[in-house]
Amino acid sequence: MHLHEAQKKVHKYISQFKVGYFPPLANLARLMEEVGELSREINHHHGPKTKKSSEDCGEEKIAEEMADVLFTLLTLANQLDVDIDKALCETINKYQKRDQSRWEKVE
Ligand SMILES: [Mg+2]
Repeated sequence: MHLHEAQKKVHKYISQFKVGYFPPLANLARLMEEVGELSREINHHHGPKTKKSSEDCGEEKIAEEMADVLFTLLTLANQLDVDIDKALCETINKYQKRDQSRWEKVE
C-alpha cells in the first residue's frame, strides 16, 4: 500500500464518525503517546528492563506500535493537508544529497 492510499484509508475511517478529526495539537499529543508506546516496546525488547510475565511481548508488539505511530502521523498529515508520499520522497532525496559522502560505503 502506498502512503497516499493509506492517507485516504485513514481519512475514510475518521470521516465515518461525527467527532471527525481531533484538533492538530490533540493529534500531536496522540502521536507522542504512540511514540512513547513504541519506545516502551523497544526498550523491553532490546533494553535491560523486562516486562511483567503477564504482559504481551515480542516483535509483533513493536510492529503494532510502529503502525500506531504511522496511523497517527497520517491523521495529522491529512488534517494539515500534507502529501506524505511527496514529503517523504523529498526527505529521502535530501538525505541522499546531503549525506552522499558522509558514511563509508559497503563494497
Ligand atoms: Mg499504541
